[in-house]
Amino acid sequence: MRLGYRGTEESFRHELVTWLEQHVPAREILDQPKQSSAFLQDWSRAWQRTLFDAGWLVPGWPPELGGRNASPSEQMIYFEEMTRREIPRTMNPQALGIISPSLRDYGSPEQQERWLLPTLKAEIAWCLGMSEPGAGSDLASLKTRAVLDGDNFIVNGQKVWTSGAHHSDWCMCYVRTDPDVPKHKGISILIIDMHSPGVEARPFAELSEPNYFDFNEVFFTDVVVPKEHLLGDLNNGWALTQGSLSHERAMLWIDAAYAAQRAFAVMTELADRPAPGGGTLSDDARYRDLVGRFYVDTQAQMLMGYRGLSKMALGKPAVEHSLLKLYGSESLQELLLSGSEMLGHGAVDVEVLGPKMWRDGSWIVQFLRSFAATIPGGTSEIQRNIIAERVLGLPRA
Ligand SMILES: Cc1cc2nc3c(=O)[nH]c(=O)nc-3n(C[C@H](O)[C@H](O)[C@H](O)COP(=O)(O)OP(=O)(O)OC[C@H]3O[C@@H](n4cnc5c(N)ncnc54)[C@H](O)[C@@H]3O)c2cc1C
Repeated sequence: MRLGYRGTEESFRHELVTWLEQHVPAREILDQPKQSSAFLQDWSRAWQRTLFDAGWLVPGWPPELGGRNASPSEQMIYFEEMTRREIPRTMNPQALGIISPSLRDYGSPEQQERWLLPTLKAEIAWCLGMSEPGAGSDLASLKTRAVLDGDNFIVNGQKVWTSGAHHSDWCMCYVRTDPDVPKHKGISILIIDMHSPGVEARPFAELSEPNYFDFNEVFFTDVVVPKEHLLGDLNNGWALTQGSLSHERAMLWIDAAYAAQRAFAVMTELADRPAPGGGTLSDDARYRDLVGRFYVDTQAQMLMGYRGLSKMALGKPAVEHSLLKLYGSESLQELLLSGSEMLGHGAVDVEVLGPKMWRDGSWIVQFLRSFAATIPGGTSEIQRNIIAERVLGLPRA
């Protein structure tokens, strides 16, 4: 069987590639060090706005929202080309990937006018306030409290791991609005102005990069939030976490698949490198075994992703996408760990891995960073629970 796209879809690719060749900022601009996942430099604001105006920001959406009503296959082509070229759409991914769809699906017309277009045009930056010290995987245990007092909610509590909070204008924040009902039922979402009195964001460094501050603890002390900032219905926040954010996210496996292919390419280039125990790496059976296994993994990932896409394009549910986050993130982590063990002290040599993979850093640093894919959006253990229950239909423990 030969997999391919239709002629009209290849014309779509041609139009995109031609446009990119004329408009993408220079590589040295795209590769400038990031300050956080919500810090919008002037060039990134301008680039996102250019994508929006041309209908290339969210191709599956209508033109007034920065898209062109692209079909699922065309959207896949878009992600293929952007990922292959390592072109970011935004420097505030949580705003584009999670907050914009939430505003589109659940925001009132006034909220959409106030926040959706400015977000898509990169005029404002966002963080996502879900996790708390006692509520990560078990998000429904969150304790940050919002009490309605006249026309305002008064918010008190603490979030943690809040990416880019110190550079954000707004927070899409999960709060408890009714403590007296089962825990999933008393949660609401508030849009909180990060410049309000009583909001304090304390950034802290990443394990893999002591000079990179993206995570924050965020403290809310008697923060006044107008009741018009409630997103969706009161006490119905849980529905938003389960909501219709899946369409575009179902294609994001391609990022992990390309990261895996790049890591694989680096690994194969190392074949002639001296091995810690003498000879070259390619003399070592463990190296050959790793390269072989990882090649099969990367191929399987791509095929599983396209199989899911085909089902999606036919309007069928695609269980493949539930499997890909777990499979892709863990297989890359295994390659980076086994590679580190094989490279020995060479794994800390920054020359081993160039800037093309995520951000610059040595093989061992990339191993540490690989945890950033196995934890957020549901840890590997949680993914296994989901697969067991929803894909395999096993009874809940
Ligand atoms: C790079 C990155 C960016 C992030 N950005 C944000 C952000 O912007 N906003 C935000 O709100 N959060 C963010 N997070 C936090 C992330 O959502 C949480 O770390 C994640 O939900 C896990 O929660 P936790 O850290 O509290 O771990 P816990 O939930 O305490 O889990 C600890 C361990 O127990 C395991 N475990 C927990 N429950 C079960 C279970 N039922 N069955 C089996 N094993 C279980 C977990 O798999 C894990 O190994 C980010 C995290 C990372 C790594």
